[in-house]
Amino acid sequence: MANYKCLECGKDIDEKYITRKIRCPYCGSRMIIKSKGDRVSKVIAR
Ligand SMILES: [Zn+2]
Repeated sequence: MANYKCLECGKDIDEKYITRKIRCPYCGSRMIIKSKGDRVSKVIAR
């Protein structure tokens, strides 16, 4: 299971919100951090 976190507002984003568009449902930011277990990678939607 992957967890996402918004870089702008810092809120955790449920995986169900991440489908085609990677966008924060709270502030609309496209700066999302994807964390899988101990691995964290930065994801920016284009
Ligand atoms: Zn946000």
